[in-house]
Amino acid sequence: MNPPVRPTLTLEAIARDALLHHLDRGDARQALSLALSALAAWLGGPCGLTSLGASGEVRWTEGPSQGHPMPVAGLGRQLGHLWLPAAQPPASLAPLLPTLAALLQREAADAAQVAQPDGHAALLRAALAGSDTFTWEWNLDNDWLGDIDDGLRLLGYAIDEVGHTQDDWDRLIHPDDLAANDLAFQRHAAGETEIYEHTYRARHRNGEWRWMLERGRIVERHPDGRPRRVVGTQVDVTERRATERAATEAVQRLEQIARQVPGMLYMYELRRGAGGSLRYSSERGPAVFGLPQTDVQSDLSAVWTVIPEEDRQQMYRAFLLSARTLCDWTCEFRVRRPDGEWRHLSARATPERVADGLTRWYGYIEDVTERVQLEEARRDAALASAANRAKTEFLSRMSHELRTPLNAVLGFTQLMEIDHADPPSAGQQRRLRLVREAGEHLLTMIGDLLDLTRIESGGMALSFEPVAVHELAAQTLEMMRSAALVAQVQMRLLEGGETLLAHADRTRMRQVLLNLLSNAVKYNRPGGSVTVQVFVAAGGGMVLEVADTGLGIAAPDLPLIFEPFQRGPHAGSSIEGAGIGLSVTRALVSLMQGHVQVHSQPGVGSRFAVSLPRVGAPPPPQSAT
Ligand code: ADP
Repeated sequence: MNPPVRPTLTLEAIARDALLHHLDRGDARQALSLALSALAAWLGGPCGLTSLGASGEVRWTEGPSQGHPMPVAGLGRQLGHLWLPAAQPPASLAPLLPTLAALLQREAADAAQVAQPDGHAALLRAALAGSDTFTWEWNLDNDWLGDIDDGLRLLGYAIDEVGHTQDDWDRLIHPDDLAANDLAFQRHAAGETEIYEHTYRARHRNGEWRWMLERGRIVERHPDGRPRRVVGTQVDVTERRATERAATEAVQRLEQIARQVPGMLYMYELRRGAGGSLRYSSERGPAVFGLPQTDVQSDLSAVWTVIPEEDRQQMYRAFLLSARTLCDWTCEFRVRRPDGEWRHLSARATPERVADGLTRWYGYIEDVTERVQLEEARRDAALASAANRAKTEFLSRMSHELRTPLNAVLGFTQLMEIDHADPPSAGQQRRLRLVREAGEHLLTMIGDLLDLTRIESGGMALSFEPVAVHELAAQTLEMMRSAALVAQVQMRLLEGGETLLAHADRTRMRQVLLNLLSNAVKYNRPGGSVTVQVFVAAGGGMVLEVADTGLGIAAPDLPLIFEPFQRGPHAGSSIEGAGIGLSVTRALVSLMQGHVQVHSQPGVGSRFAVSLPRVGAPPPPQSAT
């Protein structure tokens, strides 16, 4: 799926190819030109070479002579300059420099028509000295291997210790590698390959196997086509192979890690004038974009199709900024999966200017849909809660504002009812009473509303004390007596529980009792009854129970009646009410660390049980340790 990250070209191979070319064609300048273009590919940028004459004057220049000049020296004098893109660290070119120096010198000699005193072989030996490489020449007519002294030394043998025929050399080769070695040569001899190349193991004098890379070319044939002379190089690649194996293992380890990472790791390159390409993406890439396994290509064409235009624009703007200023590229965008599902992805990449005109980003893309959804839910909740706070505040203010004039209305109504100086007529008395009762009802409703908003906004302060609930119930029952009389409902308080004390707020407890009792009377029928009792609950707390033989509540309405403004079947009925009483009751009881339960049967009656913490109750049982 991915293009290779590193080019396979090595500096040793560039040097070898240039030398072979020179051996083959005898043209040093052409060999240098070949080496330069290969080096430009290796560097990823243009490079040039300037040759200096004996007195330091510039003799000729190949390629651009700008950037970073690196001296090329040999045989005790400076031979020229290599021009590199500024970013390239000069030390890393060491394997190539002896070859360049040797070819430069050869080129100078060619130009001056001066014969080298030590000939080709000496020149090449000088060029390859210290690079674990040697040249050889094989004459097939007499099976003579020439110029292999350096090779023998490399393998730890004295020059006369091993014979100089191909047969002698073959005896140093690992038996398992002989056949493949021969096959590579036969294919070259048959014209299938331009260069004969093979890697094999050769035995060092100390018994170790060394890995040798051999490259050669037939340079002379008999008139009937049979090869006559072959020249080539041989290099000890044992260390390089170990390094390569270590590098391969490191890459495999990284791949393994990349596979475990939930998102996609990637490397993207932008080359001035050539556009961008995805040079690496880890295996999970397609899954991140919801694409088939083969669809994350270097040109990203399939990826673009799943990103909406608007998000693409935004990504592109952020990318341009990153390319210009080398700041990190960060971006969140959406993709539409083939099944239509939208996912949110987050991308981050750090850029690096690799060479002039080449920028590379290393980055990570992950699916953040769940996080985005959570943030959206949080934002919605915050908005809803702000709206709720605004509503609560409004209700609270309105209740306050309504109460003041209402108290005035009620006060003057009462004054008129008892005005002895100017007594109202019997009809006026009746109408005044109606005004007062309606006003009182309104005042109760406003009071409940105010309480509800206070509780919701957390502004209701309670003052806890031991409350004798039985006694409080007796007093409250008295307060309800006249309403019960009018409704023809009997009320009674059962004996028991007189000594029980609840840990509660007395005023709020009375309010709870009044709410429950007034409902028990309101939703009753003539001849019905209301029974109140106080007792200890099974768990040790206490219970205040208000039971009636009234209309009852249908099961589907039960969960609703504690919600504000919910009146169940009595919405719009002739029984007065605003649907707030029970919500206030439940909220107050819960503030007092208790809870309310209801059991009801339509046509039979209802039972509301308020559980509260009891003063002096035994502590809850401890679990055994
Ligand atoms: P309101 O009585 O003002 O409507 P509440 O919050 O006190 O408001 O009660 C909500 C609803 O619960 C009532 O409208 C009624 O339908 C039902 N309800 C409450 N108490 C009883 C009861 N004892 N018997 C039957 N229904 C009741």
